[in-house]
Amino acid sequence: MPERLYALLEGASSPACLDCAECCHMPWVAAGEATALSTEMSSGVRFGGSDCGRCSALRGKLCSIYDSRPLDCRLFPLDIVEHNGEYWWCIFLNCRAPDELAAVLVPRIPALEAAMTEELWQQFRQQIALTRSTYAPYAAGNYRLIRRVQGAVFNSPSTASPTAPR
Ligand code: SF4
Ligand code: SF4
Repeated sequence: MPERLYALLEGASSPACLDCAECCHMPWVAAGEATALSTEMSSGVRFGGSDCGRCSALRGKLCSIYDSRPLDCRLFPLDIVEHNGEYWWCIFLNCRAPDELAAVLVPRIPALEAAMTEELWQQFRQQIALTRSTYAPYAAGNYRLIRRVQGAVFNSPSTASPTAPR
């Protein structure tokens, strides 16, 4: 369940986040998170959507539900994209602190992969298919590839390079 991933992502933020909120567009909510966030959702917070609008949990530049924000928000700028038919971990470069956050997040990728359930992998696939043309930074290729996702649900073992092309 996402809680295991939350623990692995503990402390992965930057002081830049306090005055930014650039990433606060259309987060997606994983299975299991919908229940945890039901109070906020029933009180009018809208998550997701195809219009790339601002998240309605945003108050000024701060998240009003920070302690129960979705996995999608906790990961950013780390994410998964489909690149030339393969799934890759990437760092989105529309983040204000991509290098600082990559230094914290990238070493955690193996533990995140180990904690991912098949249900979560499948949800990532669905979200990638939905957002690759609707999320402008994804559509524009504004991300840096980190390494191929190691997971049978995404990439089967192959002889392809596990690290980013130069
Ligand atoms: S875009 Fe980057 S720096 Fe800005 S709030 Fe999101 S994670 Fe933090
Ligand atoms: S839930 Fe919070 S962190 Fe996530 S997009 Fe909305 S305001 Fe930003």
